[in-house]
Amino acid sequence: MSSSHLSHPASDPGHPTSWHILDAEKAVILLNSDRTEGLTLAQAAERLQQYGPNELIETKGRSSLEILWDQFKNIMLLMLIAVAIISAVLDVQESLASGQFVFPKDAAAIFLVVLLNGILGYVQESGAEKALAALKNLASSKVRVIRDGRPLEVDAKELVPGDIMLLEAGVKISADGRILEEANLQVREAALTGEAHAVSKQANQLLPADAPLGDRTNLVYSGTEVVQGRATVLVTETGMHTELGKIASALQSVETEPTPLQKRMGQLGNALVTGALILVAIVIIGGTLFNPSLFQELVKVSLSMAVAVVPEGLPAVITVTLALGTQRMVKRQALIRKLPAVETLGSVTTICSDKTGTLTQNKMVVQAVHTASCSARVTGEGYSPEGEFVADGELAISVPIKDLAELQLLMQACVLCNDAVLQKEYGEWAILGDPTEGALLAVAGKAGLRKDDLDYQFPRVAEFPFSSERKRMSVMVKNTPDNRSELFPFLMFTKGSPELTLERCQYIQIGTQQVEITEAMRSQILEQNNQLASHGLRVLGFAMKSLRELPPEASEDVSEADLIWLGLVGMLDAPRPEVRDAVAKCRAAGIRPVMITGDHQLTAQAIAEDLGIAKPGDGILTGQQLEKLSQSELQSQVEHISVYARVSPEHKLRIVQALQHEGEIIAMTGDGVNDAPALKQADIGVAMGITGTDVSKEASDMVLLDDNFATIVSAVEEGRVVYTNIRRFIRYILGSNIGEVLTIAAAPLLGLGGVPLSPLQILWMNLVTDGIPALALAVEPGRPIVMQQPPKNPKENIFARGLGAYMIRIGVILAIVTIAMMAWAYNFTQQNTFGGTLDPDRWKTMVFTTLCLAQMGHALAIRSNTRLFAEINPLTNPYLLVSVVVTSILQLLLIYIPPLQKFFGTHILSWQELLICIGFSAIIFIWIEAEKLLLRWFSRRNKVGYPQ
Ligand code: ADP
Ligand code: MG
Repeated sequence: MSSSHLSHPASDPGHPTSWHILDAEKAVILLNSDRTEGLTLAQAAERLQQYGPNELIETKGRSSLEILWDQFKNIMLLMLIAVAIISAVLDVQESLASGQFVFPKDAAAIFLVVLLNGILGYVQESGAEKALAALKNLASSKVRVIRDGRPLEVDAKELVPGDIMLLEAGVKISADGRILEEANLQVREAALTGEAHAVSKQANQLLPADAPLGDRTNLVYSGTEVVQGRATVLVTETGMHTELGKIASALQSVETEPTPLQKRMGQLGNALVTGALILVAIVIIGGTLFNPSLFQELVKVSLSMAVAVVPEGLPAVITVTLALGTQRMVKRQALIRKLPAVETLGSVTTICSDKTGTLTQNKMVVQAVHTASCSARVTGEGYSPEGEFVADGELAISVPIKDLAELQLLMQACVLCNDAVLQKEYGEWAILGDPTEGALLAVAGKAGLRKDDLDYQFPRVAEFPFSSERKRMSVMVKNTPDNRSELFPFLMFTKGSPELTLERCQYIQIGTQQVEITEAMRSQILEQNNQLASHGLRVLGFAMKSLRELPPEASEDVSEADLIWLGLVGMLDAPRPEVRDAVAKCRAAGIRPVMITGDHQLTAQAIAEDLGIAKPGDGILTGQQLEKLSQSELQSQVEHISVYARVSPEHKLRIVQALQHEGEIIAMTGDGVNDAPALKQADIGVAMGITGTDVSKEASDMVLLDDNFATIVSAVEEGRVVYTNIRRFIRYILGSNIGEVLTIAAAPLLGLGGVPLSPLQILWMNLVTDGIPALALAVEPGRPIVMQQPPKNPKENIFARGLGAYMIRIGVILAIVTIAMMAWAYNFTQQNTFGGTLDPDRWKTMVFTTLCLAQMGHALAIRSNTRLFAEINPLTNPYLLVSVVVTSILQLLLIYIPPLQKFFGTHILSWQELLICIGFSAIIFIWIEAEKLLLRWFSRRNKVGYPQ
C-alpha cells in the first residue's frame, strides 16, 4: 500500500475500514465531501494526485514466455527449423570432408528468420493486447458527478474518493461507493459475486460488520451494472482499492481465440507444407531412382524448395495491414474492440440500426402540442427555451395559449417527469441527459417554466423509471401546500408512448376541469397522434393524477392507472443528412439496411421512407405483431421487412437470430443494457460511443464514436478494402513462391549441375524483394468498386474466388519463363566465361535476378484485376513505385557490390545478361496485362460484368 493511501480515512487506524456499517452522513463527513455540492474542482484535482487515477492496473494474461512459445507452434516455422537443422548438418559434413570450416550461412539465416517471425508474432500479440487495452480506454465510460455544485461528466478514471456520483439504468459502475439516495435501484453484481439476478439496494440501511459482500445492500461496487433505477452515491474507493481491484488479476483474461484470418492462414500453411513435401518426395525419390549418385544434391534442392514454399514475409505484411486498417477506421470514427471484426465487417449483409440518434441527429425540438382544447405549433430552435406557441387553426380560447390551464399542467408534467438538465454552456443551450427529455425542458421554458423552480416547489419523492419495455415513466412529487393537498399530498406525472399512456387514462383535463374521457375523445387523440407521427415526429403522451399516499415500490402496473390525460407533445428529430447517401451506398454494396425502433410505426415509417430505408409499401412489423409470430414464422418474413416499430430490446435478439437463420451476416446497433444480448448475438455488435451504456459497449465488437449510421457503412467499406488488399498480396506473394519451387525442382530434372537458388537467396526474395512491394500493396487505396459488389461469404476458403487458380497459374507461368531462361543461360554461361573474368555459375544469379524482377512487374500489374497498369494513376499509390525502385536497386547491389556478392553467393552479370533477365521477367507483366485485356474482350462479348 502506498504511503499516500495511508491518509485515506477508511484506512486510518481508528476509522472503520468497512463502509457498510457507516451511516451515509457520517461517510460523507469522513471523506470531507458535501452531499449536494460535491467536491470542489480543486479538491478533486488534489485527490486525483493523491490517490491516482481510478483504473485497474493491468496484470499480465499469458506470461511472455508462453506467448513466445506459442509462436513456434506453426507448421511452416517448424518445417523451416527442420530445414535449418538439416542444412547445418550438411555444412558440418562438408567441413569434415574438406578439412575446411564452412560457416552454415543458410542455417543461420533460416534460424534468424524463424526467430524474427517468432518475435514479430510475439510483439504483435503482446502489442495487440496493449493496443486493445488502449482502445478499451478510449472507449472508456463517462460518469456523471456533482462537483462545485454542478452536474458534470468526467472520465471514469478521474473519479476520486469523496466524489458524488449519479447512477442510472444502464450505467456500469466505475468505483465503489456508499449509496446516499436511491430510487428503485437494482444492480447486477455478477462480475463480483457471480449472482446473475439483480439485487436491490437501499440507502438507509446500516449493516453488521460481518455482512458478506453480496449482502452489503447500501454499497455499490465497481464493475457492476445498474439494471434499473437511479441513485446518488458517495465514491469511497477507486482503482485497485475497489473490491474489483482486489480480484482484478483473476478477472483479467486475454482473448486468444484465433481469428478467421488466422484460421485461414493455418489452412494456407497446411496446404503449402503438404504440397511442398509431396514435391520434395517426388524429386528425391524420382531423382535417386534415376541416378543414385544425385542423392546429396537432391537433398540440397529439397531444402531450397522447402524454404521457397514458406511465405516468410506474409505474417509481417498482414500484421501491418490490419493495424493500418483499424487506424483508418478510428479516423472514420469507428473503434474496433475485437480485431476479427475488421474482417467480418467486410462480409456484413444486413445492418440493423436504431432510429433515434443513429439514423437521426438526436437533437429533438418540440414542434407541436395538443391538449383537449388547443392545438399549437411551437417555434424556436435547438434546446434554447425561447420561442412561441402559435395556435393551429381556429380556436375559441380567451386567454393567451401560454396561460391556458391545461397547457400549463402539460408543461409542468414535461418538467417534473424529467431527468435531464438544461443549461447554458459557453453561451449555448445544451442538455445533460436524454435529448427527448431535453426538448421537453426547452418547450416548458418557452411557457416560462424552469426546472429548478418546479423541482423546489414539487420535490420528487418517488418514481417508476423509464424502460424501453414499458415505454413510459412516472414521477411522484410532493404537492404544494393548498386546500387540496390536505387530501392529496402527492401528485404523479406520467409520460410515455401515447397509446400506452392513453390506455391508462380515465379522465381528461379540459381547462381547469377533469372530465371522464369518451371513446370519441380517445380516437381523436389517437388520430392526432398518427397525424404527428406520419410527419416523422416522435410523440409522447402525458398524464397525471393526485395521490392520497405514495404507492409501494415496483407497483407501476397497478399504480399507473385512472390517470388524467393532459396532452400530446410531438418533437422533430431530423434525419442525419449523411445517412441518405450511406443508405444508398449500402444498397449498391448488396447490404440491406433495416430500422429497429421503439418509436411509433408511423414515425418510423416516415423517417425510413425519407432515408430510403423503406420503399412505400415495404413491410413494417410492430413489436405487438412480432410477439404473436413463432420464430419460424418470423424467419419466413424477416427478409422482407425493413422497419420494426415499437419493439422492445428482447425482440431485437429474436430478429437477429431469425436473420442469421436465413444466412445473413448482421451488424446490429444498440445502446441500452437490455440490448447487450442482441449485440453479443450479432456478428458485429455495434455500440454507441456517445449515448451508449457501458454495458452495451462491453458487449460490442465496434463502437461508433459519433453514434452515426454512416460510420457503420464507412467501417464496412474499410473492412472490405482490408480484405481485398490482403487477398491481393497473398496472391502476389504465393505466385512467386510457387514459381520459385518449380524452378528449383526443374534444375536437376533438366540435368543442370547445381541448385539454382540457395536458401539465403530465397529468403532474400521472400522477405525483401516480395515483402517490400507487398507492403505497398497493403496500402492500396480502396476503389468505389468495393462498395458496388455483393458481400463475400466470411467462411470462404482462402483459395476461393480464383485466388488459388491465380496463384497456380501465375506461379507456373513464372516458372516456365524462368526455366526457359535458365536453360538458355546455363548453356551460355558454361561456354562463355569471357576469358575467365566471369563465373560459369552465373546462370544461377540470372535465375535469381529474373525471379526478382518478374515480381516487380507483377506488383505493378496486380494493382487492379481489370484496369491496365497504364490506366491507373501511379500516384494514387506512390508507395508502390517507390518500393519497386528501391527493391530493384537493392537487387542490383547484391549482384555488383563485392561483399554482398560474397555473402549472398551471387556473380557479376554482363550488361547483356542483365538485359536478358529484364526481358524475360517483363513477360510476367505483359502476361497479366494481356489476361485483363482478354477478360475484357470476353466480358464485352458475353455482356457480363467483370469478375473481381
Ligand atoms: P428508440 O430509441 O428506438 O426511439 P426507445 O426505446 O428509446 O426507442 O423509446 C420507445 C418509446 O418510449 C418512444 O417512442 C417514446 O414513446 C417512449 N419514450 C422514449 N423516451 C422516453 C422517456 N424519456 N420518457 C418516457 N417515454 C419515453
Ligand atoms: Mg432511445
